[in-house]
Amino acid sequence: MIRVDLHTHTCYSRDCNTPLELVASSCHRAGIDCIAITDHNTIAGALKLQATGRVRVIVGEEISTASGELIGLFLSEPVPAGLSPLDTIERVRKQGGLVCIPHPFSRWPFPSRKAVGTGDGEHFVPSEAVRRRNALLTPEVLAQVDMVEVMNSRTPFADTWAACQRLASMRGLIPTAGSDAHTAREIGRARVEMPDFSDAESFLAAMRDARLSGVRSSIFVHFASMYAKLRRKTC
Ligand SMILES: [Zn+2]
Repeated sequence: MIRVDLHTHTCYSRDCNTPLELVASSCHRAGIDCIAITDHNTIAGALKLQATGRVRVIVGEEISTASGELIGLFLSEPVPAGLSPLDTIERVRKQGGLVCIPHPFSRWPFPSRKAVGTGDGEHFVPSEAVRRRNALLTPEVLAQVDMVEVMNSRTPFADTWAACQRLASMRGLIPTAGSDAHTAREIGRARVEMPDFSDAESFLAAMRDARLSGVRSSIFVHFASMYAKLRRKTC
């Protein structure tokens, strides 16, 4: 089994100052064997860190679509921001990548009494509350994605994690975990333990046997991102 953090940022994101070398050493410290680098709208940092060979990297991108964020994994080309979610998914698919919806209910509590939807599998229809929370969560988009992030360490509420898990289960999507680290200390705070894989296809198969674990970061980590935006360091 290997331990993977599926959602992290480097200084190639405008709200993060973590240099690539520090990402690699933090993986070693946190016992992470493989890391998905998912910078905002770029894969440049992921490719560069992968080329160093200092840590095993899944090249990803957290893409700002016209209606919310999607993560593409196993990318070889960047996907431009601002496209519709379905066009974004098509761009990821064309290069053999996988699609995940990160923090589907954003950072705020999603009360456990609220339904995430009705029906299940292909017949799942997201509830009004879900649609209000994230415009990207349409039946059409949910039918096209592979995974939903259910543990995001920067989402401080247990109820929200539970609601994300309900969404994944009802729609039959593979649940994932990622720290969403914007500082080096956060790397590894959420992770999956999974059988080893060699490409996107075997990764997806291995994720069916993955065990997710994670802890929530203090809300103060968001100040670090704000600070990073104000005090940009060059990579
Ligand atoms: Zn992120």
